[in-house]
Amino acid sequence: MTTTLGTSPTDLAGKIITPDDRRYPLLRSTYTTTGRPAAVVLAESAADVASALRLAREQQLPLAVRSGGHGLSGSATNNGGLVIDLSEMRRVDVLDRDARLVRVEAGARWAQVAQALAPHGLAISSGDHGNVGVGGLATAGGIGWLVRHYGLTVDHVRAVEVVLPDGTQVRADPVNDPDLLWVMRGAGAGAGIAVAFEIEATELRDVGFAQLVARVDPAGETLQGWSDVMAQAPRELSTKVILASHGTTPLAVITAVVASDNPATIQQALQPLLGIGEVTVQQAHIVPYTDLVSTAHLHRNTGQMPSTTTNGLLTDITPDAARALVTAATGPDPALIQLRSLGGAAGDPDPAATAFTHRHQETLVIASMFPPHDRPALSAVWDTLAPHTDGAYVNFESAPDDTTFTRAYPGPTGTRVRELWKRYDPDSILHRPPSTSETPPSGSPSSSR
Ligand SMILES: Cc1cc2nc3c(=O)[nH]c(=O)nc-3n(C[C@H](O)[C@H](O)[C@H](O)COP(=O)(O)OP(=O)(O)OC[C@H]3O[C@@H](n4cnc5c(N)ncnc54)[C@H](O)[C@@H]3O)c2cc1C
Repeated sequence: MTTTLGTSPTDLAGKIITPDDRRYPLLRSTYTTTGRPAAVVLAESAADVASALRLAREQQLPLAVRSGGHGLSGSATNNGGLVIDLSEMRRVDVLDRDARLVRVEAGARWAQVAQALAPHGLAISSGDHGNVGVGGLATAGGIGWLVRHYGLTVDHVRAVEVVLPDGTQVRADPVNDPDLLWVMRGAGAGAGIAVAFEIEATELRDVGFAQLVARVDPAGETLQGWSDVMAQAPRELSTKVILASHGTTPLAVITAVVASDNPATIQQALQPLLGIGEVTVQQAHIVPYTDLVSTAHLHRNTGQMPSTTTNGLLTDITPDAARALVTAATGPDPALIQLRSLGGAAGDPDPAATAFTHRHQETLVIASMFPPHDRPALSAVWDTLAPHTDGAYVNFESAPDDTTFTRAYPGPTGTRVRELWKRYDPDSILHRPPSTSETPPSGSPSSSR
């Protein structure tokens, strides 16, 4: 579809990139999805965001909001619409070093945040990749390398500067518009456009980093062993497991991060992992946190990684769940399976404190497939895992629909999210409203994207 942009507002002069602009090829797409928007607005301020919203309304253009362009659903681009791209808004400022309070603009990448905070001895746990944007992650969750030590990113967001769909600029904090703050911490994408966050960072310079490889038995005892170790582990330890097929032997590639620079603490935290089965240590070092969310990850997004992804949360890895995970990773059409440890600080907040309500689950499981495998192939694998799951994280879903909404925002959380999206975005400029009927939670990815 080709749409021509009508008259543009003068305050956006030079900031509207149309298909005839030489910068357009590097701005049209996201990491997973090639788009062909009518225009991309490179916003430099909240006022620019408000003007771009007005432009989209006046010309009735579908709208996409982009911070880092790493969203798995590709919703940060479109065909024939307007994209508000925040990548020019990437300042990172320490507001109060004693209180560890920092202000981060939504268009920064997490590598840039880590880099800017390192000289102050501060860090924010975000995700595992430096090219992911602040805006998409800090409005939804943030399950990062330090998740069991620090909690989720949203747990430490103290205020958000938001441009509402009607163009109003608001600061949401516990005193001024606490409802908006609540929804921006877990379900922000449907309420407003975050332009900056005030986040409480943690004192951190170097961390323990280890990579281990374990043979995985088909009965899943190794995975249960990993889960048992993580249930008892000190909060300093967070781990991610990738299940891979190596010939006929399934392997678990475990990345372990210990939030400490003390060799004895690191060794003590890692030691129990060696007992989960036949484990070899590939490497163990003390590294700066900036090595984990590295500026080496920074790249342009050109639709280079088409994929289909879904996820679920596990309260417990039962023997049946462990077997199902191994089968999903090693069957005839295997999915790439990742497990992320939760618990620790991620379980501390009251489930009603933010729109990210899932606080009792111990593990996040993410399943991905890549072309030529598509959604039906992923569904075939996921159907065997879904019965073991209890909720989902909206950011690891490439085809979000009503079922995703119900799994990510169950019960009273979903009711409140729906109400607040309607209050702040009555015309559904940002998000298709989820169905008001209470769809029973199901773990199956049903959409065809
Ligand atoms: C390689 C890779 C690794 C990842 N690793 C992790 C991880 O370790 N932990 C984790 O928690 N997640 C991880 N994710 C998922 C990540 O949290 C989401 O993809 C997130 O949406 C990316 O943020 P972004 O700003 O880059 O998104 P974008 O693609 O820019 O935006 C995606 C959507 O988020 C919303 N959005 C974006 N910016 C704003 C804003 N400023 N205000 C309101 N809504 C906004 C919009 O709906 C937009 O369409 C990973 C994703 C990838 C591709």
